[in-house]
Parts: sequence; C-alpha cells; structure tokens
Amino acid sequence: MQWLRHLFNRRKPEIPPSLWAASLERLPFLDRLTPAECAQLKGLCEELLARKTFTGAADFALTDEVAVLIAAQAALPVLNLTLDLYDDMAGIIVYPSAFMIPQSEMDEAGIVHEWHEPASGEAVHAGGAVVLSWEDAQESDAPGYNVVIHEFTHKIDMARGAANGCPPFLADFHRGIASGHWKKVFSGAYEDFVRRVDERDAALPEDFDDNRPEHAALYDELFGDLPLDPYAARHPAEFFAVASEAFFVLPEPLSEDYPEVYRLLSHYYRQDPLGT
Ligand SMILES: [Zn+2]
Repeated sequence: MQWLRHLFNRRKPEIPPSLWAASLERLPFLDRLTPAECAQLKGLCEELLARKTFTGAADFALTDEVAVLIAAQAALPVLNLTLDLYDDMAGIIVYPSAFMIPQSEMDEAGIVHEWHEPASGEAVHAGGAVVLSWEDAQESDAPGYNVVIHEFTHKIDMARGAANGCPPFLADFHRGIASGHWKKVFSGAYEDFVRRVDERDAALPEDFDDNRPEHAALYDELFGDLPLDPYAARHPAEFFAVASEAFFVLPEPLSEDYPEVYRLLSHYYRQDPLGT
C-alpha cells in the first residue's frame, strides 16, 4: 500500500500510468470504453480511493494493485452517474478468500435457525461496508460472473433504503425512466427467470451432489442456456445485481432473453456495452 498511503496525503491523487495500464489489462470487459471514458473511469477511481478506506482482513495484504482493480470495477457502474451513490458505504474490506457470514431463517414452526455460510462478497446495508473475497474477485470460470460489480450494484440499490431491485432514480440522470415501467419489466423478468430455474431444479436427481462429475455435467447441461447465474432467482434484489453484473461483463445473453431489462439497465447506467 505504499503508493496509496502516499495518495491519502495528497490533494490530487493520481494513479501511476503503469499501474492503471496493468489494471485495465486484467479487466478485458473494459476494452469497449473509448479513451475519453477510460480517462473518466481513472478519475472516478482516484476519487473513490481518496474517499473510501480499503482494509485487508484475515491477514490479507492489501496492495495498490488490488485496491486499483477493485476501485476500477466499482467505478464502472457509476461511470456516467455519480460516486455519491456510494455515500452510504463505510468502506471496502477485502478477505483473501471466501469468508463466513451469519445467516438465520425462521421455519414454519417459528423456530429461528442460525448458521454460517461461506460468501464471496457482501454489501452490508444501512451504511455498512462492501466485503469481498479477493480470490473470488479475480477472474472466474463462470461466464458473466463479477463479484465486485455485483456487490457495488447492491450498494446502488441500497442507496435509498433496503435493496429491492429498484435502484434510486436520480433527477439529473433518470427523468426518462418511469418507476412503474421499471417495476413491471423487472418483476416480469424475475418471475420468468424463477420459473426457468425451478423447472431445471425439478429435473435434478434428489441426491444431487455437484462433486459428482455426472451430476455436475447434468447441471451444466440443464442450466447452461440461462442468460444469468441461477443465483438471480433468489430475490428481486439479487436479480438486479446479477443482471447488472452480466450487463457490464457478458451482456449478449441478457439482451437476447430479456431485451427490455437490458434496455432499462442501459438507460439507468447511461452506458450501452453492446453499442446498440
Ligand atoms: Zn447479491
């Protein structure tokens, strides 16, 4: 963190060009940006690094490279909006790998069950931090997967209250989006996606175990044609975050299956990754 520490003491922080170039090389989905957009992203990134505290957890050695890579992906959704959408965020905490988060659920008998589940990322609501697993934040085999964009778009969704899949519409940028239309399109797409996931789930054997190669192959065959990670079926807020992730990283399947979701995301983020 030598450079970053140095950065905090300066009024006008600037990411060294070689560090910026190395970061861009690791994020191929940024290739579509024009040189002007790239310069704008760099400026936002510098502002984000100056405004927010990055902390390594569980002995993770936070380097300049890690901080810039995370900040560049975090800045992408707000490239043509405003960093103020992240005002309600305490900072960014980075673990070396998956971390455990407490879960609880009440069953039908009213008994609360509590357990811990490994997570690759978490956006803590009500002013909390974005927590990331560095291992999962690096390139993944799963197409369209991007945990950094996922968690930061949850933060956008939470900017005006609990995450519900409907982000705040800003007077400066979103006058053309009718919230009723947004809710109708997103709830329709979400319900359709849940139905598609449920159909595929029902076709899996009862003793399904993804450690068994034949089960893993069946899973890929069944779920491979979905435009989004099945995790999007968990909740409307997850649908928004997973669709946003896909929008920036692998937009084609999303725009083919849910063109109106793609169009609304394009209006919202004021970006068009497909150049349509
Ligand atoms: Zn999520």
